[in-house]
Amino acid sequence: MHADRFLPHAALQGLYEALAERGYAVIAPRVKDGAIFYEESRHPDSLPWGIRLEQDAGASRAVQDTHTQCFAWANGPQALKPLTFAPRETLWRIKRTAVGFAVEAIEHAARPLAVIGTRACDLAALSIQDRHFLGGPYPDPGYAARREDMLLIAVNCTHPASTCFCASTGYGPAAEAGFDLALTELEGGFVARAGSARGEELLAALTLENATPEQAEAAAASVRHAAESQTRAIPGTQLRDALMARLDHPRWREVAERCLACGNCTLVCPTCFCHAEVELPELDGSGSLHAREWDSCFGERHAYIHGKQLRPEISQRYRQWLTHKLATWHEQFGRSGCVGCGRCIAWCPVGIDITEEATALLK
Ligand code: SF4
Ligand code: SF4
Repeated sequence: MHADRFLPHAALQGLYEALAERGYAVIAPRVKDGAIFYEESRHPDSLPWGIRLEQDAGASRAVQDTHTQCFAWANGPQALKPLTFAPRETLWRIKRTAVGFAVEAIEHAARPLAVIGTRACDLAALSIQDRHFLGGPYPDPGYAARREDMLLIAVNCTHPASTCFCASTGYGPAAEAGFDLALTELEGGFVARAGSARGEELLAALTLENATPEQAEAAAASVRHAAESQTRAIPGTQLRDALMARLDHPRWREVAERCLACGNCTLVCPTCFCHAEVELPELDGSGSLHAREWDSCFGERHAYIHGKQLRPEISQRYRQWLTHKLATWHEQFGRSGCVGCGRCIAWCPVGIDITEEATALLK
């Protein structure tokens, strides 16, 4: 294993250039409309310098502060999911021919992306999505093309939001696996660790000094503090039996009185993968496109099968979502479907909190 290096803030531009020389388009966080989004970036000036996040149930606001760091915040509404599981994607095309119709396959080409700022919870969610889309005999070709050349530069969390609870799920705040580089930010720069041969090659090309023992300890202490400062927690990592024994709990109806069934929680969730398939016909009848788009188990039509809506009540939809995430996911994937990113809490317009609901249901 190679020694950790110190990447000064002033050397970030060199990292961007090294990535560009290797053919990667850089995706990095930036502030837009008061939130933090991941977009293509050519220069570290666009990173969220001096930004802190004021986040709580039903609220999130990126605020300019006086500090000099660029990752002193936890997460925006989305990071990796839209880059791998496209919000809308054509799966095949149908063309009218002289004798009927022909189905044409879609070519899935993707640019190599380097994502700077991936959090530990997002890496944990990505490993679930990889399993869902790439495991088994029929890997998803679009997902596979986008995922193949993706280089991941993780940033360990040192400033969790009040909505974060990754310490209780075990998926953060430090990135443990699945990254090419992992950075921990200190004043003036980052302690940088390679997680792959690609990451080590990048660090070597940047000709950086080794991190001092003091820098390494300061980085470890910041991540420890981030874990200790989290105030929310999920009440256990294996809730399958407890939740499935409470399918008639009155709390499902209580939460449904507040839930708008808007689906925000599922759209921001990095592990949710539900989708709908739609047919988009040409107006002149010459063919159609068959597309896949994100869907939500809160939607009225999501559980509509052959003339019957299987979950007409919002309480049933909320129960479906929460029991899938925290209970039946264990049967499907051998682990919980919640990594503890807290996005569903912050981006729920009425502030419904999965940790609060799970705790109330277990009483
Ligand atoms: S259920 Fe909520 S906290 Fe858990 S991974 Fe999804 S968005 Fe994050
Ligand atoms: S829990 Fe919140 S975000 Fe999710 S569907 Fe209900 S109101 Fe929307």
